[in-house]
Amino acid sequence: MTIETIIKLSYLVSAILFIFGLKKMSHPRTAVQGNWLGAAGMFVALAVTLFDRSSIHGYGFIVLGLVAGSAIGAYFAKTVEMTAMPQMVALFNGFGGGASILVAGAELGKLLVHQGPDSARSDVLIATAASGLIGAVTFWGSLVAYGKLQELKVFRKPLSLPGHQIVNGGLAVLLALLTFWLVQSGGSVSAYVLICIVSSVLGVLLVVPIGGADMPVVIALLNSYSGLAAAATGFVIDNSVLIIAGSLVGASGVILTQIMCKAMNRSLTNVLFGVMEGGGSTADADEVYANVRSTSAEDVAMILETAQRVVVVPGYGMAVAQAQHAVRDLANILEKRGTNVEFAIHPVAGRMPGHMNVLLAEADIPYEKLLEMDQINPTMETVDVAIVIGANDVVNPVARTDPNSPIAGMPIIDVDKARTVIVIKRSLSPGFAQIPNPLFAADNALMLFGDGKQAVLEIVTALKENM
Ligand code: NDP
Repeated sequence: MTIETIIKLSYLVSAILFIFGLKKMSHPRTAVQGNWLGAAGMFVALAVTLFDRSSIHGYGFIVLGLVAGSAIGAYFAKTVEMTAMPQMVALFNGFGGGASILVAGAELGKLLVHQGPDSARSDVLIATAASGLIGAVTFWGSLVAYGKLQELKVFRKPLSLPGHQIVNGGLAVLLALLTFWLVQSGGSVSAYVLICIVSSVLGVLLVVPIGGADMPVVIALLNSYSGLAAAATGFVIDNSVLIIAGSLVGASGVILTQIMCKAMNRSLTNVLFGVMEGGGSTADADEVYANVRSTSAEDVAMILETAQRVVVVPGYGMAVAQAQHAVRDLANILEKRGTNVEFAIHPVAGRMPGHMNVLLAEADIPYEKLLEMDQINPTMETVDVAIVIGANDVVNPVARTDPNSPIAGMPIIDVDKARTVIVIKRSLSPGFAQIPNPLFAADNALMLFGDGKQAVLEIVTALKENM
């Protein structure tokens, strides 16, 4: 068997591991195994590529990159807060795009130096243009997404230029012309650099107008773009495993984007053309919160003692407070008393898809107890107590009532229809969409102000004292 055959077979093994890994990642119970399979696939692909002596001229830079990259990766994996994971994912997407720009650019340079101008094939040049274009859109779009998730002041409000869509359309036409130039010229470096610069501007312009609560869709889309950029680069360097891995990321990212679009009730076309800016909310917080009633942990315990059916709705604040273990203790103590406890999971609760599922799984809450929004909403009228812990936008009824709200049309968990709603959060501050929430002042709602974990522990203590 030649070394080339061994490399090809190993790439096939990697691809199979990626596919099975993805399959297993589609369920929380098998997700960790799936992650390991994917990592094993990547290890095989990397190891085999390093043995491919025909295209490697020296290991010095590779080892340097591996050591530096592994050290930085390990440091962040150890230190990054769970609540900062979405920003990290945004950066990973961006770096994937950045790597595609550099690899495709280096390949173009290599080709011109070693084989002279006009030596590049048109199909390779088209793939080079695609790598630069999608890579730069992903890189800059992801950096803006990072800024929004990090809630940096400059990105907090959606920003829209006059004629924003026309400018975007103009840039798209310019990119088509530059790609034509790159191909016609047999690989002009200036054309490639211009493609990267114009795409960078497009990447920023596509993401800056997106605000309100629409970021989940953007993150899923950028994830998909990073895969497409990698796949294009795979064509540039003629590497089958990169083409397969990139296509898998691209395709799964598109599926995730569709799931997020459905969750947010947004159309994919709107997302693709970056026209998701919602109108500003007109509601004034002081007016909305005129009749807020607060409560204590002891009173909440008393209300819970008589409840037959309790639904917990977790949100981003539960992640911040790391309250998932305390929430599990609360559920256990209530179930011991004969109360039926379920968890209602909104698809965009938290700051990344599946955020709440991961946290609750970490606290060993059985998957059967986690109900999706569509399952729980039709039965909400029969819920005695809904406990909203650190959630805000995903339970905000203005999504149903105010067409000018940035979250207008987004399906929410209808906790306002439960008999009693207990909202646990530290203050009346808004959530990610920066809008007041009339639920907090509803007749059936009581606010338990405090840190999520602390408040739940106090309820548990009060319940134990009354047992
Ligand atoms: P929100 O961001 O709407 O609200 C979170 C609430 O948690 C805040 O109002 C905050 O109020 C409260 N909070 C923060 N820290 C604590 C704490 N220690 N204890 C108790 N409460 C706390 O969260 P939701 O989960 O309801 O909604 C998610 C939002 O994020 C949506 O708008 C979604 O679109 C967006 N998003 C989602 C992504 C995803 O993929 N899931 C990605 C990007 C954005 P206070 O400060 O008063 O305590």
